[in-house]
Amino acid sequence: MELHGSETVDVSEEMSWYEWRDAPEGDFAVLGDPVGHSLSPMMHSAAYSDLGLEFNYVAIRVELSEFDRALDHLVALGYRGVNVTVPLKESAFEWCESLDGGAWRYGAVNTIRLENRAGMNTDVPGFLSVLRAHSVEPGSRVLVLGAGGSARAVIRGLLDEGYLVRGWNRTRAKLVAVVEGLDVEIVSEPDFRRCGAVVNATSASLSGFDLPVEWSQAEDGCLAFDLAYGEEMSPFLRGALGRGLPVTDGVPMLVEQGALAFEWWLGRPAPRAAMLRSVGL
Ligand code: NDP
Repeated sequence: MELHGSETVDVSEEMSWYEWRDAPEGDFAVLGDPVGHSLSPMMHSAAYSDLGLEFNYVAIRVELSEFDRALDHLVALGYRGVNVTVPLKESAFEWCESLDGGAWRYGAVNTIRLENRAGMNTDVPGFLSVLRAHSVEPGSRVLVLGAGGSARAVIRGLLDEGYLVRGWNRTRAKLVAVVEGLDVEIVSEPDFRRCGAVVNATSASLSGFDLPVEWSQAEDGCLAFDLAYGEEMSPFLRGALGRGLPVTDGVPMLVEQGALAFEWWLGRPAPRAAMLRSVGL
């Protein structure tokens, strides 16, 4: 068995990941490609320690083309549940035989219960809880930037909750297709006048790119929410901070989606304080 990125198998101390063929027997895991940067092992391990549970949670790299084979292998190894990240959420949606929560509407699954091939999307409720924590309530207008998998899901989640949605994407035609039939105002530039929040659901921050956002247009108190997270603050959030706006990156959303996954798998309240501490919040 080969472990990458660490000398030790204790993922709570250092980040580490396995190729799916080398995965050890286990309980829970996050699957993605790449997956070495994931904070999920640290966060879930902290939750188990806090509650004195004996489970383990590891990161496993799975290529998109090998998703089904990898899942069969992990089931055989005794895994109970997996989280799924980029680029596997649509494959996870296809793999599942039953869907909980809004997963059907969002077209993406990020949490799977393996024994009965059940899927759930905890990203969207995690996202909505962060908005509410910043007092951005249903009825207010939210500008969503992007038209990828996350934008598609959060737009539907926002509409379901009663927010007004404005959308912008670099490739307009892609956004038009993604919101077909939905009540979304499509704009040709990121116009966030009269918005309670602007959500960066593009992957621009992951490559350090800035977006064509004119921060001087923002009204006081408009929340700048970047779904991405990393060691460096993104150009998007730096721009918002320069204008004096409240900001959040994707870490609080990550913790809440993880807490909801924990609760769905184990049927008990997640120790959110321990999970937040584990990622430095
Ligand atoms: P996708 O790859 O599906 O989406 C890509 C989108 O980003 C497209 O709309 C694309 O525009 C746009 N884009 C990429 N680069 C640029 C650029 N330089 N300028 C403008 N637009 C750009 O990504 P996902 O939807 O899967 O993820 C989006 C983000 O959300 C990622 O940063 C991801 O890490 C984060 N995320 C965070 C979570 C959390 O728990 N915090 C959970 C899920 C996602 P175009 O159509 O023109 O190509």
